[in-house]
Amino acid sequence: MRQFGKDGKTLLAVRCNGCGRSMKVENGVLKEGCFLGRQDFGYFSTMDGQRHSFDLCEECYREMAKAFTIPVEMEDITELL
Ligand SMILES: [Zn+2]
Repeated sequence: MRQFGKDGKTLLAVRCNGCGRSMKVENGVLKEGCFLGRQDFGYFSTMDGQRHSFDLCEECYREMAKAFTIPVEMEDITELL
């Protein structure tokens, strides 16, 4: 869950939706690994017209991914954000 300033752009806080922990944010920048899940459900969905979004800290992300039958696809990246 993300909170933004009055300008709607400046990141103020991020809390993990899984465990509720506040993640480290400094000067509008998230300073730790975070999984942002976001999906707009469309016409063929039973949730048509809904946008779901959540943030997970790395620990909660690992726990979620461990429950998958098919493992997460991983590849090395050279350009980091
Ligand atoms: Zn968490």
